[in-house]
This record gives sequence, structure tokens and C-alpha cells, in this order.
Amino acid sequence: MGSRRWISTITGLTSSTGVVVVITGGTKHLYYEGYVYTKNSEDETGRSYWVCKKRKSLKCKAAAVTVKDSVVKCSGTHTHEAWE
Ligand SMILES: [Zn+2]
Repeated sequence: MGSRRWISTITGLTSSTGVVVVITGGTKHLYYEGYVYTKNSEDETGRSYWVCKKRKSLKCKAAAVTVKDSVVKCSGTHTHEAWE
């Protein structure tokens, strides 16, 4: 019951190859391999560029690129553990 309520607050949710994109309050977050990314930009070809949510707080430089909600590229190494 509780989880259903949580889902209902999400306006967009897709999952493929372990990727979950959640849109809450107009902000997109990418969940991938235990890390959370914030959307940085999107180009005209439909590629989305994501940066780690800990970029500022932990100076994490890991980033990801997705096409149609599938991760096609990951770069950098996280400075922290997943789910931290
Ligand atoms: Zn990170």
C-alpha cells in the first residue's frame, strides 16, 4: 500500500537495462547501478547528459549519457559508494 502511494507521486517512470528515470516536480533523476544522476542537458539527437547528484557535495565527477532511457556511456569514477 505504501509503495503504491509513492509511485502515484511520480509523473514519469521507465525502466530498461537497469535504468530508472524518475520525474518529480519537473526534475529528472536517473537511477543507475545504485547511483543517482541529475539531468544536465539534452542535445538535438535525443541524447541526455547526466551528472552525479553528488557532484557538488562530494566533488564527484562521474557522468552518464542516455539515449531513450538506456545508458550508452558512463564516464568518471564515483568518489563515494552507491546509495550513499
Ligand atoms: Zn557519484
